[in-house]
Amino acid sequence: MPTSSLAAVYRKDQNGLSIEEITVDDPLEREVLIRSAATGVCHSDLHVIDGHINAGRGPLVLGHEGAGIVEAVGAGVTHVKPGDHVVTCLSGFCGQCDQCLAGHPNLCVANPTGRTRDQASRLLQGDQRVFAFVGIASFAEVMLVHEHSVVKIDDDLPFDVASLVGCGVLAGVGAALRTARVQAGQTVAVFGCGGVGLSIIQGAALAGASRIIAVDQTGAKLELARSVGATDGVNASDVPAVEAVRELTGGRGVDHSFEAVGLPALVRQAAEVLAVRGTCTIVGVPPDGAVFEIPFAAIRPECTIQTSRMGSTRFRLDIPRYLDFYKAGRLHLDQIITRRARLDDINDVVASMHAADGARTVIVFDQQG
Ligand SMILES: [Zn+2]
Ligand SMILES: [Zn+2]
Repeated sequence: MPTSSLAAVYRKDQNGLSIEEITVDDPLEREVLIRSAATGVCHSDLHVIDGHINAGRGPLVLGHEGAGIVEAVGAGVTHVKPGDHVVTCLSGFCGQCDQCLAGHPNLCVANPTGRTRDQASRLLQGDQRVFAFVGIASFAEVMLVHEHSVVKIDDDLPFDVASLVGCGVLAGVGAALRTARVQAGQTVAVFGCGGVGLSIIQGAALAGASRIIAVDQTGAKLELARSVGATDGVNASDVPAVEAVRELTGGRGVDHSFEAVGLPALVRQAAEVLAVRGTCTIVGVPPDGAVFEIPFAAIRPECTIQTSRMGSTRFRLDIPRYLDFYKAGRLHLDQIITRRARLDDINDVVASMHAADGARTVIVFDQQG
């Protein structure tokens, strides 16, 4: 029996998201039906709402940083069972393509987590198809996802914290530990101290970086950055950021810089603060069509500029590992949540994210039973 669920629905020509009733199909062979407990609101969701990422005309249910309790599973599901607590991740993997087999499931090219065209839609409104963003659609009371889009987590973890590890924290911590492989003693600069930037800082701290310089335009975010492991803060609305970072490192520059926003101007600055043989890792998701321009003379010899896709994650390994770090007090995830809201408040949450007045908002759902 299909389940009815409230969901925040996006349509291209509509102002904001609207809370509407949808029906969610029963799980097929490899699918998992999840009662939502919490979902983060990520900037990728915002990019769709703002038209910076084209996700079609809709109707579409956004959201991908989901956490909840498994309600039902298809006959072929082995990773979870009803009652298990899970986190969703957009890095669904097939396990069989070249990238998966080479140990890079975050780059899976098979896109295995959706239904095929000849199968019924997972989400419906009447008989109209409703699309699920990246195969997850966590801005809804009920999610139906592929088994390879979820990971089981411990029952004693708070869902709001766990949901953030499904995307922003995974992308940030992973960028430092897996993509850039920051080494103990190296110096780091992080441009942008939202949820992802704060996670990069913590990944760098876990790796043993000697200096972690946070760069942002608001004093409050720089304070937050220091509370999770940054050793220095540069307020880019007061001083030129590139010069300030160079000064803090005695003119040398940093071994690793990270861009956490997706702004071409910040990528340029992140490249310009590198030391000789330094590495700049672009973690932020730029809008469609973005172009980076960096003067060649401004970059020191033998530097690397690279992108990071979801922190080069193997999410089935990394999400439980990062949550263990949280339990051990080594990842400070409570500080990243600046607001908790209800699904009804979604448009207000989006507006406040545009005002950039917080690191991360988590939508929390009622849990029955
Ligand atoms: Zn995300
Ligand atoms: Zn694959």
